[in-house]
Amino acid sequence: MNKKSPAGLYIHVPFCIQKCRYCDFYSFPKGEEYFEIYKKRVIEAIDFYGKRYARPYNSLYLGGGTPLLLGEKHLSDIMAAAKPYLTPDAEITAEGNPGVSERCDFFALREAGINRLSFGLQSSDEKELAALGRIHSPKEAEETVKAAQKAGFDNISLDLMLGIPYQTEESLCKSIDFCDSLGVQHISCYMLKIEEGTPLAKSELRFLCADEEKSADFYLLACEELEKRGFEQYEISNFAKGGKRSFHNLRYWLDDEYIGIGPSAHSFMEGRRFYFDRSIKDFLEKPFCENEKEESSGGGWEEYAMLRLRLSDGLDVSELESRFPEVSGADILENAKPFEKPGLLRIKGETVSFTPKGFLLSNALTAEILFG
Ligand code: SF4
Repeated sequence: MNKKSPAGLYIHVPFCIQKCRYCDFYSFPKGEEYFEIYKKRVIEAIDFYGKRYARPYNSLYLGGGTPLLLGEKHLSDIMAAAKPYLTPDAEITAEGNPGVSERCDFFALREAGINRLSFGLQSSDEKELAALGRIHSPKEAEETVKAAQKAGFDNISLDLMLGIPYQTEESLCKSIDFCDSLGVQHISCYMLKIEEGTPLAKSELRFLCADEEKSADFYLLACEELEKRGFEQYEISNFAKGGKRSFHNLRYWLDDEYIGIGPSAHSFMEGRRFYFDRSIKDFLEKPFCENEKEESSGGGWEEYAMLRLRLSDGLDVSELESRFPEVSGADILENAKPFEKPGLLRIKGETVSFTPKGFLLSNALTAEILFG
């Protein structure tokens, strides 16, 4: 391995037991007939990009889909292929869903080198879960997390969803309590977006989803309740205890480089952005370089500033100026000042950071601050 700086590796696994009503990710039910062939192709891709860029990876994220559905044998094979490219301290996350514990041996996953798990809980309320088309019960979620902890996992994340049908402030607080009582280190809270073409968008249930105002209330409540329980907000939707921030996800917001493998996966390497289409057929059959689709390279000061403003650590304008001498940090601080008093942001020295209220308006606010 050469001395180039480490990058991240993302592997998309597009298989799920059943499609959730709201889901717009590239994933489809089961696909067991593909597991073996898909794993082989992923391993080929790891070698292809490993040789092309000759970069060590200090984070690996198996996302989806439901990567844990592949089971410990296939996942261990993927890990063995990735190992020569991983730094010894790499953060290695696998996503899964509650109810997979009976399909996956968590001890074997740890043995294979996976050291972080992320589960899609979404809610601890049976009715809310059923409305989303989730297949697990809160009980199964509890059993899954406990089984992972028993195997030694001490870095576990749970996803919660805001604005879902039937959700109330009380049920949201119960879901947060549920996560906290399980002793997890990380919680992601995403607002439900009704994506066109999904079963949810076509169903009457969409009328039971929270409107913008209600979703905003849920968001602020979640921020407050998580903070009370010791979860530090470090990004618009992400909260961590004991400093267990998601190192891999931080790299997207810090504009660091990564390779994405699998249909729908995106890459950013050596100033170039590209992605694979949402087609498992193309991923399996086309040569990797022929399958890469170009994206605009990005990398401008606006993108850098926007990504930093997603983080609670905020945007340090002196750092921005040193990277992009054409930008005036003083102008940005001046533009930000009027939003400090209403509690939308904080200015500390050279750094501007949003409060939870500010995160809610982050698109409009970012434009005001950056462009005046
Ligand atoms: S488990 Fe996740 S990826 Fe799979 S269908 Fe549900 S939301 Fe989509």
